[in-house]
Amino acid sequence: MKESSIEKKVLAANERLRVAQERLDAAILTNDGSWPHAEAMKEISERLREARVCNDQVQQHIEASAEVVPSGRDCPACGTSIRAQATLCGYCWTRLSPSL
Ligand SMILES: [Zn+2]
Repeated sequence: MKESSIEKKVLAANERLRVAQERLDAAILTNDGSWPHAEAMKEISERLREARVCNDQVQQHIEASAEVVPSGRDCPACGTSIRAQATLCGYCWTRLSPSL
C-alpha cells in the first residue's frame, strides 16, 4: 500500500535522525572544553530532536488518515465484506451501487 511505503520512509528517516542525535549527544558529553563548537552542536542536537518530533507527527497523521479512508463495506444482501468500489458482490453476486 502507498501509505505504508511512506510510513516506512518516515521510520527510516527517524532512525537515521536518532543515530545522528545519539552520536552528536555522545560527542557533546565527552567534550572536555577543547571543542569550541559545543554550544552550536547542542543547538543542532535540539533541531534533530525537533525533526524527529515532526516525523512522529507525520507518522501519526498517516496512521490517522489510514483509519479514516474506507477500505471496504458489507454486502447489503449477504453481509460479506467487499471493496467500497465494488459493483458486484463476489459471494452472492448481488449487483451493487459503487457510490454507496
Ligand atoms: Zn453478497
